[in-house]
Amino acid sequence: MSLPPNCKPDQLNIGLMGGTFDPIHIGHLVTAEEARQQFSLDYVIFIPAGLPPHKESKQVTPARHRYLMTTLAVMSNPSFIVSRVEVDKKEPTYTIDTIRYFESRGAPGANLYFITGADAIMEILTWKDYSALIGLCTFIAVSRPEYPLDRLGEITANLYPELTSKIHLLEIPALAISSTFIRKRVALGKTIKYLTPEPVEQYIKKHGLYKK
Ligand code: ATP
Ligand code: MG
Repeated sequence: MSLPPNCKPDQLNIGLMGGTFDPIHIGHLVTAEEARQQFSLDYVIFIPAGLPPHKESKQVTPARHRYLMTTLAVMSNPSFIVSRVEVDKKEPTYTIDTIRYFESRGAPGANLYFITGADAIMEILTWKDYSALIGLCTFIAVSRPEYPLDRLGEITANLYPELTSKIHLLEIPALAISSTFIRKRVALGKTIKYLTPEPVEQYIKKHGLYKK
């Protein structure tokens, strides 16, 4: 990924959205778009995981497919960019390494916002160097249907009272959609139309992904 020419990263607000994106779906896109508007982000950079440390044991679709599907999904939005920084790494990548990359080389001087679902923020204490991570960026923790905003607020305030100024909560129109749900539907031969952008749906079909 590269930021457009003539743009000065030190004047930008940039959202970073990490995920397995196996596959990307409208829940991710609605989340990124809501964060873009609410936090006046100039760009949201989607970062498909290479070998996610937390999902190592599970079967994950090869990174090239997940990267291409993410690229297809964001094509129509000029504020959305996809980064290869994690998919190009051989070893599992930790969020802290990715944020450090954007802080030092990818977007030096920019205000970085890490956008994460409620479920993922709960795992933050298990992440490598989480305290360093908090020092480098602001978190936008978004609601998911099983984690409505009030519950999310309570949990984060209890778990991390010292971090409340670094974790912003954002309500997302409830979309009970997950990649797991989409994979299961494909395996059952059920339609996934409108759950993911059409080019992604076509890509899944063409490459026979997620079939039993
Ligand atoms: P899986 O079911 O495979 O775990 P997922 O739908 O949770 O997939 P991920 O790639 O794991 O997707 O998630 C990337 C990020 O997007 C995470 O921070 C996750 O919490 C968030 N996210 C995923 N789906 C939604 C949704 N429907 N609404 C809000 N946030 C979401
Ligand atoms: Mg998930």
